[in-house]
Amino acid sequence: MNVSAILKAKGREIETAPLDATLKEITDVLAKRRIGAIVVIDADKRVQGIISERDIIRVLAKSGADVLASPVSSVMTRNVISCGENDTLDQIMAAMTTGRFRHLPVLKDGKLAGIISIGDVVKYHISEVEMEATAMREYIAHT
Ligand code: AMP
Repeated sequence: MNVSAILKAKGREIETAPLDATLKEITDVLAKRRIGAIVVIDADKRVQGIISERDIIRVLAKSGADVLASPVSSVMTRNVISCGENDTLDQIMAAMTTGRFRHLPVLKDGKLAGIISIGDVVKYHISEVEMEATAMREYIAHT
């Protein structure tokens, strides 16, 4: 299974925010949409960063609640690792494990084409393993 197949099944909807969105606005969207990360884009819709709930918890612990008035650009991770539509489930699992993050934006021709979360990875990995087990059982039953 690859990224393209996962996006086809889960959809390509992706929550983004501009560079000057405040951390309070980001927190509201994370809570309302029940998601863990938002991709930060510029006026040309190019990816400039990613902000996750972990970044917000860390900066709150360090600086206190006043930091919620700061722009997302001051806290987001700028070096965003992304994947392509042809990447496999194994490749994106490896990228998340190595990078220690749970969100992977998908880029197509330099533009945002979706996002894969660790929840999606687990879900589709389990269904892949189940399909393999079923095929194996059928093979054993008919030999
Ligand atoms: P997460 O596990 O996704 O909540 O993110 C943990 C940390 O990694 C946070 O500092 C995020 O800003 C950062 N992060 C999340 N996704 C990515 C990504 N695709 N590329 C680079 N950093 C990321």
